Amino acid sequence: MNNQELLGALVAAIAGGGIRVVDLSQPLRPSTPVIQLPPPLAPSQPFRIEEVARYDERGPAWYWNNISCGEHTGTHFDAPAHWITGRGLPNAHTDTIPPQLLIAPACVIDCAPEVEASADFLLEPARIEAWEAEHGRIPAGSWVLMRTGWSCREDPAAFLNASETGPHVPGPSVACMRFLVEERDIRGWGVEAVGTDAGQAFAFEPPFPAHNLLHGAGKFGLASLCQLDQLPPKGAVLITPPLKIENGSGSPLRVLALVAQA
Ligand code: MN
Repeated sequence: MNNQELLGALVAAIAGGGIRVVDLSQPLRPSTPVIQLPPPLAPSQPFRIEEVARYDERGPAWYWNNISCGEHTGTHFDAPAHWITGRGLPNAHTDTIPPQLLIAPACVIDCAPEVEASADFLLEPARIEAWEAEHGRIPAGSWVLMRTGWSCREDPAAFLNASETGPHVPGPSVACMRFLVEERDIRGWGVEAVGTDAGQAFAFEPPFPAHNLLHGAGKFGLASLCQLDQLPPKGAVLITPPLKIENGSGSPLRVLALVAQA
């Protein structure tokens, strides 16, 4: 099969259902939870929408809205420039990331049972190696997605799950991020929670390893994913283009997964 035939076969399989398209994105709405930072750190604005016209005197034949939000709102993409460790890297902003890097395979590690037992569950390298013993080595250039079941938490307070000791949300350990970045050369790391790091990661060394290590190595993040239970452990392909914001640090996006049907 030549490349043109390959592309035609792909389109035909998507149209015919042999390749299923799974939407891993949450709806974007004013109640979409936004990460909370303690003062004096500046807050990110939630999603806002206001009607411009709706088939009325403001616009008799059309409907449209004004929208605004922080770049890191809802299902969103973290570019390397989001973190200080990725500050000087080339092609590190939303408008300069090479587009071919935005289509990549995904490995899904199911941690939902562990998270059921503890909201502070941390993914460790030993758990990844156990996954690899079953499914094979994580290929370089892959997304690694941590399935937790967290997206089922529809109440924003339960989704953020903060107490006086800070947020209690699952995520990766420092050793986990080091392993995935240095030993597996992943493309990126994705989670169901509001941010790519664990709720207690402010106290890790280094703090926020998913941000610090991932973005320092030019790799990407995805937060607030859903429907990870619809993906196989290995073999899905993600399409993850952020908005082309000039010098952007990230953006809300639609994350689509291509899944081959048996
Ligand atoms: Mn983010």
